[in-house]
Amino acid sequence: MERIMTRKATARLEEAKLEQTLVELNKYKDLCGVLQRVQDDNEKEVLNILSNNSKLKSEMAELHCQLVNITEERDKLQHIVDQFDRCSDEFDTTLKHNAELKCRFSEAQDTIIRMESTSQKLQTEQTNALFVDLAGYNRTPNSSNLCFVPDCTNSERLRVPIYIKQQILMDYKLYVSPNARVWEEHASVYNWELLTEYQFTTQLAQTHIVEMLDLLRKKTVKIIG
Ligand SMILES: [Zn+2]
Repeated sequence: MERIMTRKATARLEEAKLEQTLVELNKYKDLCGVLQRVQDDNEKEVLNILSNNSKLKSEMAELHCQLVNITEERDKLQHIVDQFDRCSDEFDTTLKHNAELKCRFSEAQDTIIRMESTSQKLQTEQTNALFVDLAGYNRTPNSSNLCFVPDCTNSERLRVPIYIKQQILMDYKLYVSPNARVWEEHASVYNWELLTEYQFTTQLAQTHIVEMLDLLRKKTVKIIG
């Protein structure tokens, strides 16, 4: 009897143990499910991270490409800037050279002006030496463009007849040059007194004196009055 009691008690104890184990198993099962879900979530997250990672990698590759392009562009620009600097240097040198040349040119011009002035002075001196001043004798300009009477602008002009030239030379010591022209009205009026109101050149060259003497030697049909 006692053995039966002991067996029953043992069986109950075993049963209680089994139940306890079952409870614990269920707990573990629940925990396992929770862990499984956590693991699934973690896996999803890892996949997300991997996907993000590859996106970032491709973005980085793109950025690298851009960097390479920009670097090339920058090198090209740097090259252009270097060339420009060289050009700028050359331009500066040219400008300096140009300024020097301008300076030399200006000096040369000054020299030319000085020499021209000297030459002109010498010419004037020479001309003065060639001209003589015959006390009281004058000469008209040797131009055929205007009437030889100063201030006269009349466009009708004739060659001055020899007898008039002779008369004027003898009466007023004024030599009428070979090319001189005269307005017909002056010639017909015979009043040459007006010539005394004007100042004519007194510079007479050797040729003028010869011409004057030749003029006086010429015979004329007109009677000089
Ligand atoms: Zn006139």
